Amino acid sequence: MGVEPTYGPDFGQLQRQDPELARILLDEVERARAGLQLIASENFTSPAVLAALGSTLSNKYAEGYPGKRYYGGCEVVDRAERLAIERARALFGAEHANVQPHSGASANLAAYAALLQPGDTMLAMALPHGGHLTHGSKVNFSGRWFDVAAYGVRRDTELIDYDEVRDLALRHRPKVIVCGATAYPRLIDYGVLRGIADEVGAWLLADAAHPIGLMAGRAVPSAVPYADVVTFTTHKSLRGPRGGGILCTAELAARIDRAVFPFIQGGPLMHAVAAKAVAFGEALRPEFADYARQVVANAQALCRSLAAEGMRPVSGGTDTHLALIDLRDLAISGAEAERRCAAAGITLNRNAIPYDPEPAAVTSGIRVGTPCVTTQGLGPQEMAEIGTLVARAIRKPEAVEDVQARVAALLSIHQPYLSED
Ligand SMILES: *Cc1c(COP(=O)(O)O)cnc(C)c1O
Repeated sequence: MGVEPTYGPDFGQLQRQDPELARILLDEVERARAGLQLIASENFTSPAVLAALGSTLSNKYAEGYPGKRYYGGCEVVDRAERLAIERARALFGAEHANVQPHSGASANLAAYAALLQPGDTMLAMALPHGGHLTHGSKVNFSGRWFDVAAYGVRRDTELIDYDEVRDLALRHRPKVIVCGATAYPRLIDYGVLRGIADEVGAWLLADAAHPIGLMAGRAVPSAVPYADVVTFTTHKSLRGPRGGGILCTAELAARIDRAVFPFIQGGPLMHAVAAKAVAFGEALRPEFADYARQVVANAQALCRSLAAEGMRPVSGGTDTHLALIDLRDLAISGAEAERRCAAAGITLNRNAIPYDPEPAAVTSGIRVGTPCVTTQGLGPQEMAEIGTLVARAIRKPEAVEDVQARVAALLSIHQPYLSED
């Protein structure tokens, strides 16, 4: 009688062996279920993605790339990585994909390593205007090792000032122009940036960490046809495991691969690579396009509701999965709003708004996003109610119990990790 191969992971075993740690895992599920998760950079992966993450592929050393490893016994994990690469290429129409970066920050480090030498000049969006730490902040390697010029948004429109980008590019002659942000609610015009990059002979690097899932679902225009390199995370709107990835032209394929390994990383996390393959497979299904469109529709509904409550959306609205809200009219800081929402069972984050007079630890804004609540199955009608609840939680801390009760009622029918799928 043949013995069925066992998959391995078994929560019951963890509970028996290490109840202390098992309790923490259960508490985190409870925490996520008990509140509304409006953090724009988070999502709820499918159980299938989690199953791949918990697999024995975590045990395998596989430095190198499929067919060219520095370890034996890689023939099985090679199949996982090839599948992830092929699916990523198909999903985004990219000439080349590297699925090994451990995170979005690692993907950016590798992309810079492929295109720049220390001391070279790059042009990127300023952090206080929505850029990312890895786009040239002084506390990050990118600001330490490169000469960084920064562009921002216009004070009047709160949109990227492409004339300023062009002026700065002509003045500084960067080797790389970086676009992409963590807190920019609008579409980025990759075509215009491509033109500017060509005019000054720069590479165009699109950091699509946030909108990559929307690009996968065709809910926003893709950066892939325009950028030489697209870096991304797999755990934000794409709804996969925590991790990163890089798409690039065939011309840059070998440089990008060498920059990831051996330049910045050692052995790839093969369980994460396998989980990325699962997530790309999910994103290739037509339902994912429905999801991506719904994420944007929900963000727009939430934004409208907040605006109706007197909470001003930066730039007037959103085209994506997130909105940035200016709280100055309410005379409440972003930090205080974050605290009040948390008390009411709504998880969101404070965020600097463009030209924010407050320091980063305080801020005048909050950022809200809809990838999580959309995965849970909430729609525009519920978004309208959530906008009211957020406003209530911030304005009337004395009504916290009432808001908590309505949050609980909303969640009672839409909890993550309860349904059989
Ligand atoms: C989230 C993010 C990253 C970093 O991703 P990590 O996985 O946290 O390292 C990089 N760039 C942008 C624009 C991001 O939003």
